[in-house]
Amino acid sequence: MTPLEKLKAHSAEFRKDIVNPAPGVYVAVGYAASNVAMVETAAGLVIVDTSESTTAAENILSEFRKISSKPVHTIIVTHGHRDHLSGIRVFCEDGKPEIVARANMHNELVPPKVGVAPTQIRVKRAARQFGIPLQAHTERINIGLGPAERPIKGLGDGFIEPTRFFDGDALDLEIGGEHFELRAAPGESPDQLFVWMPERKILFAADNYYHSFPNLYAIRGTPYRDFTVWADTMERMHGLGAEVMCLGHSRPVIGAADIAERLGGYRDAIRHIVVETVKGMNAGLTPDELVEVVKLPAELAEKPFLVEYYGTVAFAVRAYFAGTLGWFDGNPTTLQPLSPKAQAERFASLAGGEDQLFAQLQVAAKDDPQWALQLADQVIQLGRHANAARRYKIDAMVRLADQTVNAPVRNYYLTCVKEMREALEAGA
Ligand SMILES: [Zn+2]
Repeated sequence: MTPLEKLKAHSAEFRKDIVNPAPGVYVAVGYAASNVAMVETAAGLVIVDTSESTTAAENILSEFRKISSKPVHTIIVTHGHRDHLSGIRVFCEDGKPEIVARANMHNELVPPKVGVAPTQIRVKRAARQFGIPLQAHTERINIGLGPAERPIKGLGDGFIEPTRFFDGDALDLEIGGEHFELRAAPGESPDQLFVWMPERKILFAADNYYHSFPNLYAIRGTPYRDFTVWADTMERMHGLGAEVMCLGHSRPVIGAADIAERLGGYRDAIRHIVVETVKGMNAGLTPDELVEVVKLPAELAEKPFLVEYYGTVAFAVRAYFAGTLGWFDGNPTTLQPLSPKAQAERFASLAGGEDQLFAQLQVAAKDDPQWALQLADQVIQLGRHANAARRYKIDAMVRLADQTVNAPVRNYYLTCVKEMREALEAGA
């Protein structure tokens, strides 16, 4: 299978479905980027996460209402990412359910009340990562952990402040005879929690596991996600002995052995990346050098749940470096680099002039798309062939998009292609 065919096959993971992995437990998959789970209890419904838009939440609620007419008793928000808390208002209906989250819940895509944050660029880059302006199925195959198509109306609109924030690591709830153990589970985000139903051995793992190599860094732009803490959380979830695992993204998993293999595999993959990256860093390797040598061992790389549909090993390696050593790669050359323009001028002079550099771009464009991108950036800096270079850059990104199994990378390329085409047309 080509990478593109593989990514297309992965869409089956997000087919629209109300999955019923255990009696009284339902998970809406494929209605939004993220899932919503419902647990029926004698006292009413417990909802785990609420999806990314009010429209998706309404669609899911209407499916749930075919199953149960009980009132919503409690809504649990596993973490502050937009795709989990934007349907809260919908699931409240006309009632006043308890809405529970950890005290450190934080949404990176909402401007802070005090001070400044690069929210605008995060939102723009998130739109690229998720391929928001792209055609579903042909351009945006899926989003790596969610379907190609989902309603965008009401995206981010339905947030209501939780009624109960809990400090510390644990909160135990008893609702209609069922026990829900909420546990701090820092990993994909520091504010994450998982929900454990001990008697029934059901785990709601939120976003610390999905069927892809973990997104230890999101190209939309995120603060450092602590790798060691994430691996430790996997260890704790692995130790529970869950027999049913419901997820924030992708389909539930049933069976203790399968669940243990996946949670243990995530833990081992993250720890392996840390150990190997640290080894390389201590040997003085830069991020560009590290990504050439740090790989998953074969026994992990061949696991279907560690395919790089969403996160990638290379991005993880770079993120670990940046998160622990910062931006400086250690090479004195990079302390005071030439400006992009000054560098391009010198490249052109090496090539024999601006026209010759552009001619090299035309050669690279035939079958060396990454080199074509790098050359195109130089030519664009110089000006004379800038728009022609932009067209070569577009072609190279289209080619690279089809060569990756990673949905965020594909979507990022193709959204930038769209942006550049629009800018060229506007300027023409
Ligand atoms: Zn999510």
